[in-house]
Amino acid sequence: MRIDLHCHSTASDGTRAPAEVMRRARAAGLDVVALTDHDTFAGHDEARRALPPGLGLVPGLELSCQQQGHSVHLLGYLADPRHPELAAECQAIRSDRVRRGQAMVERLRALGAPVTWEQVAALAQGTVGRPHIARAMVAAGVIGRPEQAFTSDWLAPGGRAYVERYALPPQRAVSLVRAAGGVAVLAHPGLPARGWIIPDELIAALARAGLGGLEVDHPEQDRAQRDRLRALAAGLGLVASGGSDDHGTLTGDRLGCDTIAPEAYEQLMALAANRHEAP
Ligand code: ZN
Ligand code: FE
Ligand code: FE
Repeated sequence: MRIDLHCHSTASDGTRAPAEVMRRARAAGLDVVALTDHDTFAGHDEARRALPPGLGLVPGLELSCQQQGHSVHLLGYLADPRHPELAAECQAIRSDRVRRGQAMVERLRALGAPVTWEQVAALAQGTVGRPHIARAMVAAGVIGRPEQAFTSDWLAPGGRAYVERYALPPQRAVSLVRAAGGVAVLAHPGLPARGWIIPDELIAALARAGLGGLEVDHPEQDRAQRDRLRALAAGLGLVASGGSDDHGTLTGDRLGCDTIAPEAYEQLMALAANRHEAP
């Protein structure tokens, strides 16, 4: 069993449509894949309709959170999209992402980068994110490749054109996912956000708030980080999770490059009130 619990589609900042992501997941030899677009459930219906034989879908999302001004990402699986508070928070985050995207375009234009909001909006079919602005910057000839936008010159946190956005306190995000019948996993805890690494005390507090797992196996976490996180997860009674965080061409099509062990997957799904909906 090969199980990838983290990927994105055009419902947020991935470059491939949900149906295409499902087709590619099966082609990559996966048996189960979770679609975890940023702050939205919008891709799930298309993904379900397009499921190839032999592939199971775990409906998920990646919630934008913030702690002391630093970005934290929380993966939620099997949460009911109709849960009123969760749906309202996702809506609030997405609306503020539009406001913030427009503000970043304004800053870019003030810096002499001829990007327009129309270009960005045409690239963003769902949740708007910095990767869409980065792609518009490539189209406008400002930079050569999207990843070049993520520096202090442009869109990196603290960068000249960077603008903050609304996000949830991580404790609240964990509570919401659980209230909606789902299970929560802290995404890529070993990746520094603006040089800041999520403190172990915060992870312990989230564990007490009902966090189900830590994303240990992620392509941008090295061996030393994975070892540290695996030990931390074991000590806190959290499931060691894993996934590719594929964003289509933006990340070099890496579906299935990291996975969660089947036993860990079973344990994780068993923590959700909606566990019967897991493939
Ligand atoms: Zn993303
Ligand atoms: Fe993330
Ligand atoms: Fe992600």
